[in-house]
Amino acid sequence: MTKVDLILSNALIVTMDKNERVIPEGALAITGGSIVAVGPHQEVLEAHNAAEIIDCEGKTMTPGLVNAHTHIPMTLLRGLADDLRLDVWLLGYIMPVEREFVSPSFCQLGSSIACAELIRGGVTCFADMYYFEDSVAEAVAQAGMRAVCSQTVLKFPAPDAASYEDSLASARSFIEKWHSHPLITPSVAPHAPYTCTPEILKACTNLALEYDVPLHTHLAETLAEVEEWREIYDMPVIPWVKKLGLLDAKVIAAHCVHVDDGEIHTLEHAGTGVAHNPSSNLKLASGFAPVVDMLETGLNVGVATDGPSSNNDLDLFEEMRLASFIAKAVTEDPTALPARKVFDMATRMGAKALYLGEQTGSLESGKKADLILIDLNTAHNMPHFDRDSNAIYSRLVYATKGTDVTDVMVDGKWLMRDRSLLTVDVAPLLEEAADYAKRIDSFLVEREGSVLSKLIAIGEAEQEQSYEVQIKVQLPNPEPVIEKINSGEFEIIRTAHYLEYDTYFSFPDPQEGRLRYREDEFVDANGEIYNVRYRLTLTGPAAEREYPKAVFLSRSRFIAPARHSLRFYREYFKPTSAIEINKDRLRWLLRYEGAEFFVNIDRLLEPALEGCFLEIKSRTWSRRDAEIKAEKISALRKALGVEKAKAVRQEYPDLVCN
Ligand SMILES: [Zn+2]
Repeated sequence: MTKVDLILSNALIVTMDKNERVIPEGALAITGGSIVAVGPHQEVLEAHNAAEIIDCEGKTMTPGLVNAHTHIPMTLLRGLADDLRLDVWLLGYIMPVEREFVSPSFCQLGSSIACAELIRGGVTCFADMYYFEDSVAEAVAQAGMRAVCSQTVLKFPAPDAASYEDSLASARSFIEKWHSHPLITPSVAPHAPYTCTPEILKACTNLALEYDVPLHTHLAETLAEVEEWREIYDMPVIPWVKKLGLLDAKVIAAHCVHVDDGEIHTLEHAGTGVAHNPSSNLKLASGFAPVVDMLETGLNVGVATDGPSSNNDLDLFEEMRLASFIAKAVTEDPTALPARKVFDMATRMGAKALYLGEQTGSLESGKKADLILIDLNTAHNMPHFDRDSNAIYSRLVYATKGTDVTDVMVDGKWLMRDRSLLTVDVAPLLEEAADYAKRIDSFLVEREGSVLSKLIAIGEAEQEQSYEVQIKVQLPNPEPVIEKINSGEFEIIRTAHYLEYDTYFSFPDPQEGRLRYREDEFVDANGEIYNVRYRLTLTGPAAEREYPKAVFLSRSRFIAPARHSLRFYREYFKPTSAIEINKDRLRWLLRYEGAEFFVNIDRLLEPALEGCFLEIKSRTWSRRDAEIKAEKISALRKALGVEKAKAVRQEYPDLVCN
């Protein structure tokens, strides 16, 4: 008789070992946190002398589920902003809120709440990626769960790092601190190719190789990402990261939605673990990962929830069901991705995808005692058919709810008994979470209160209080003016020719001003575009004074480089109207009577108008200077041979807004 700590007896055991043994009346013996025997009830009891025996009659025992990719502190951001496109959601809402609120205590709180949810849903092991991962790991270890905890590295400042060098340094010290922890596998997480640089990806790969820890990242999540890579690098994402050497590390690749056959083989050859996130991919409309092809090729694919902001829960039973149903619908084949295979993905194969296959993922001798007990005798899961050996997997994947999990054990220690959590006291944590939600709400209410604060929230907007002197004249024939400019009478400082694509956003309150998205395509002497510039300008509304022939304006302007698409800004700022004005602009910078003026001759392309517009303008930061220039501007008009200045403000009000 071998002495053991504990025997769990009399359960239906779904082992998920390599033979996928199912033991109708089974028992499992545990010593020192590890499984020492699994087998028929009588056999195990006769061979072992247990300090404690727990009768599990009526329960089904399975390996604890493995959630292959998530961002657990984001439980605190659950439901913050939904039904948005990925970039608007991430850059417009999640990242600004994260910059303001994410701290070690935020991460610890969010992680503890997530652990409660995960344990209740039968998850014993997961792969996380976030900021202040040390605080995440603290909370996870305290809850007694097993996890790969990955410290994020980004090319831009993050809540926990001013620079990429800082975040890489903290990833290193994080790995050193947790390297030999029994439950936590530390790891480094370069967030994604599009949020990193090749240099960052290489540095992270080297760090992962140096400590032999996993490298956790997002790859090929959206079609836009892959198309951008094809355009810039002439290859999709997977061969590109392979070229950088990234796949030499033990990579956990979340998503891999847009990968072709060749790329799947590349990932398989490299031994990359893939995390499939059905809910997240559906919610963000990212597409359908070719999971069936991945499995046929032999990739280790785990099932995952992604963060609770893009899901919005951490229910792995729901993910299993979706993974199977989506695969069937997409391949138009109801035999695709059967329940048994999905359950494998959520247990043994998922553990392999996280490089923890030696420790967890199945119930067999030598592995850690990470297991759950489930009540399958519920109204939504009855009756039971035993004729087909796949029926148990149907019950587990298609009909079981997370709430049917009654008991959870990790490393031989109970985390939940009879649905009572033993390691997380969740009630006070939820009060703290509600308090965060209130503060985040008021932060966003304030920010949404003005176009300017929304502009500042997504990037650096520089304020320039400036005075602008402007005259705008309709010009049926520009040739005489062009001849005049080039006559030698004026000092030409520089000239340019470009196509200007402007979109003006208006808002309900005219005091908000107008937001202009401008794309300038610079055209060379041969008519070829040699440079493109994108800018965003918020222009204040107030025209301080108008001269009969010149418009003298005082405006506050905020200029920011426009890093996102016009579509992004439209969805983010939600203007009441958007007007497009496209022009072909010839521009001169002239010196006239000691002052500099821009002279623009614009041909309107959209709206298409006959003739041209002459615009003479000057911007200055001094009021006195503006007054002087206002006096000179009419003289310059005359000097250019434009006799009659027909004001266009009344006739074309939309054109006088730049
Ligand atoms: Zn993710």
